[in-house]
Amino acid sequence: MVHLDDIYIDVHTHLFTNDEVSKINKCRILAINAGVDYETDLRVLYHYINNENLIPALGIHPENISNVITVQKSLELIPLFELPISEVGLDYFWIKDRELRKKQIEILEKILEIADKGSRPVILHIRGGMSDFINVIRSYNVKFAIHAYEGSLKDALKVVEIGGYISFPPVILRDKNRQYIMKNIPIDRILTETDSPYLSFEKGRKGEPCDVKYTIDFMSNEFGLRMSEVITNNFKHFVGNYLESAFQERRRVITYIEGILSNGSNKKTLQD
Ligand SMILES: [Zn+2]
Repeated sequence: MVHLDDIYIDVHTHLFTNDEVSKINKCRILAINAGVDYETDLRVLYHYINNENLIPALGIHPENISNVITVQKSLELIPLFELPISEVGLDYFWIKDRELRKKQIEILEKILEIADKGSRPVILHIRGGMSDFINVIRSYNVKFAIHAYEGSLKDALKVVEIGGYISFPPVILRDKNRQYIMKNIPIDRILTETDSPYLSFEKGRKGEPCDVKYTIDFMSNEFGLRMSEVITNNFKHFVGNYLESAFQERRRVITYIEGILSNGSNKKTLQD
């Protein structure tokens, strides 16, 4: 099991290829690697085999819910392992269609039910749709974080009030609104992430998990505190005993993925 002393925490990244995964060796990091559909859910499981500091999280990105087959397969996969859940949520920024938004809520409810049963931490994508999200989440007893939070301070405080965490990507270095939110929510609810390869601190740059360092330096400066310690503590509260379950699941993940790879045609999908 990875020890959490002197380590950077990235609660939300997308490392699907070998090349992307190789970037985590540049620093000491623990990252939660989020799938966005069935294929990438399998990929994050696959990369756990050789990287115990890359905790897989299974999910269906809200922009991918119109693909019925991948939704069905992911919904079958998610309950199989005691791992965190991501990327799931509501996206009203790109999805304007009423029926599709309803479908997003339906799928989110199904997933929260699974999370609630196993006390699995959930890392959410909520872009627009915050009031619908707050209505939904109240019915479940789950630990959750909103990744790359981009709403108002008022909504952020609501999230905190119902027990949620707010996670900030490196783009915060050049984003005044996120800086304002960070300074005005309780410090014990702040988490760091990269959402890499997206949301870098520099426009056009391909992000990577070790970029958390820049966020930590920035936050430490703002608060006058050693924020790496604060974030690690927050993370421990957020995941609770779940980190241990994730490490214990590793054996089962390996057996499962080896089974999938034994069918030669799957090899190409997972191993580039
Ligand atoms: Zn993401």
